[in-house]
Amino acid sequence: MSEIDHLGIAVKSLAQAKKFYEQLGLKPMPDETVEAEQVRLSMVPVGESRIELLEPLSADSPIGKFLAKRGEGLHHVALHVDDLSGTVERLKASGTRLISDEIKVGAGGHLYVFVHPSSAGGVLLELVEDPPEGV
Ligand code: ZN
Repeated sequence: MSEIDHLGIAVKSLAQAKKFYEQLGLKPMPDETVEAEQVRLSMVPVGESRIELLEPLSADSPIGKFLAKRGEGLHHVALHVDDLSGTVERLKASGTRLISDEIKVGAGGHLYVFVHPSSAGGVLLELVEDPPEGV
């Protein structure tokens, strides 16, 4: 079953963005740093789903470049899938363009890939699978 796992929002200041969501009565999780993506992030639980606030650690990181080009705003939509490797195989077989061919391990041990906007109706789409049981 797919569901929306989270919405990724690029922000200049994680601290400021968290304050805003706190005013809405939401409770941002502690910050995490993902060195490989040069990003600091905070997940904000919203019911069963989450908002992912993304602050760049450097100007030439993916989020840094996005901010320079587009300013703050919605960066990607993340769908939860049960079988990521099977899904990626199906997408590749149908000629879908992925940002990277390899499945990556992200914050909290989650597995993820990004589908290029040119294959997803102009939206950067992240596909996420839970970490393997017992990890
Ligand atoms: Zn994300």
